[in-house]
Amino acid sequence: MNYIVRDIGLAPSGKLKIDWVKEHMPVLNEIRRDFEQTKPFSGVKVAVSIHLEAKTAYLAKVLKAGGAEVAISGSNPLSTQDDIAAALAEDGIRVFSWYNATAEEYKDHLVKVLETKPEIVIDDGGDLVNLLHNEYSNLAGQVIGGCEETTTGVMRLKAMEKSGLLKFPMMAVNDALCKYLFDNRYGTGESVWTGIMRTTNLIVAGKTVVVAGYGWCGKGIAMKAKGLGAKVVITEIDPIKSIEAHMDGFKVMGMDEAAPLGDVFITVTGCKDVIRGRHYAKMKDGALLSNAGHFDVEVNKPELFEQSVSRRVVRQNIEEFVMADGRKLYLLAEGRLVNLAAGDGHPAEIMDMSFALQVLSAKYMLENGRSLDNKVYKVADEIDRKVAQIKLDSLQVKIDNLTPEQEEYLYGWEHGE
Ligand code: NAD
Ligand code: SAH
Repeated sequence: MNYIVRDIGLAPSGKLKIDWVKEHMPVLNEIRRDFEQTKPFSGVKVAVSIHLEAKTAYLAKVLKAGGAEVAISGSNPLSTQDDIAAALAEDGIRVFSWYNATAEEYKDHLVKVLETKPEIVIDDGGDLVNLLHNEYSNLAGQVIGGCEETTTGVMRLKAMEKSGLLKFPMMAVNDALCKYLFDNRYGTGESVWTGIMRTTNLIVAGKTVVVAGYGWCGKGIAMKAKGLGAKVVITEIDPIKSIEAHMDGFKVMGMDEAAPLGDVFITVTGCKDVIRGRHYAKMKDGALLSNAGHFDVEVNKPELFEQSVSRRVVRQNIEEFVMADGRKLYLLAEGRLVNLAAGDGHPAEIMDMSFALQVLSAKYMLENGRSLDNKVYKVADEIDRKVAQIKLDSLQVKIDNLTPEQEEYLYGWEHGE
């Protein structure tokens, strides 16, 4: 079986969506043109597990244009778009995924991807790599190396490396400058608000928004909230990030203090139980709870279920919880990443850079992986700068170059002033 999709008849709608994003992904287009000539992945089996929407579909098509035999699944049960999956299947790409997969189906789809015996793995959050290190470690042998898309995935890989468990080298794509400075900050900043606004159809201006975590994603979400006219509160565990948030003009406090103030809560920490039982007890009637971090454990759902007397879905992606005292709390997108589970994720121009890094890092891994140790590697500066340069060219922005005298002045030591 070459594909498992919900309805192959949805392919025309998916194709239109892919064609739209392609027009807005100039960096990947440039790389695709090169790959069509050079075919760097000729006959190479590449496994991909990334949110299966239009931009990811285009990533798969660029790999295919480079000669790869691609097998793809989603990286979250709620972010796969069935029409996109159908379009890829019709294009001859092995795709195993559908929207709203059960936990068993989700895993089964990942396993189907691994059964193609990939040599290169492109992962988002570590689900594929995890299987390759546990139940399916028999399939790890032929993997030359892989690339990881997100912060939490990279943290997990580094922990595995430290314990000596990593079975093949991995590139920390998330840690490239052209990734986290733009994807995590501006991408999450914008797409979280697109997701919340279109899901709730409620105004942001004038509301108190509590953002838990002032990392790269949290900074973007807070900055955009401020731009939309919200009063922004930050919760953190890191003293330095807390001062940064304070100097950026936000109120900083603990979640216990923030709980009764917030109209909208967004967790984006990669941690668990950031909002939990004792916080629900203090929240305002009508508070909206959402998460943009790696997994659906940042808002503690079991404690919310326990403390509520009834629950019902009141609108797509919004579940209402009535508490014992009659207050109502609303959980968006089952506490999964709200920008992807209740939206299309980051905009095309952002994923253009992230996925350009992915394909160039995958090519690097293919060419060098066999001589690397089983460690987590930084994306090479040349790759980061290449992506930035193609992006600038596509924006028709020209920047200055150092004169030889300036170069000597900046980097030499023999000048007096
Ligand atoms: P980061 O490491 O830059 O920031 C995380 C921040 O959370 C840190 O400042 C940390 O001190 C803080 N934190 C940790 N535990 C906390 C707690 N209990 N309470 C309050 N603050 C806490 O990471 P990032 O790049 O901002 O990513 C954050 C999460 O979002 C990760 O899980 C990442 O994988 C995910 N992510 C999601 C998207 C998306 O599209 N939704 C995009 C990129 C990354
Ligand atoms: N398996 C995890 C994945 C973490 S998602 C989970 O769902 O719980 C975080 C990653 O999603 C980010 O690093 C970002 O690069 C990626 N992302 C954001 N918008 C996207 C989009 N439109 N298409 C594909 N990936 C996207």
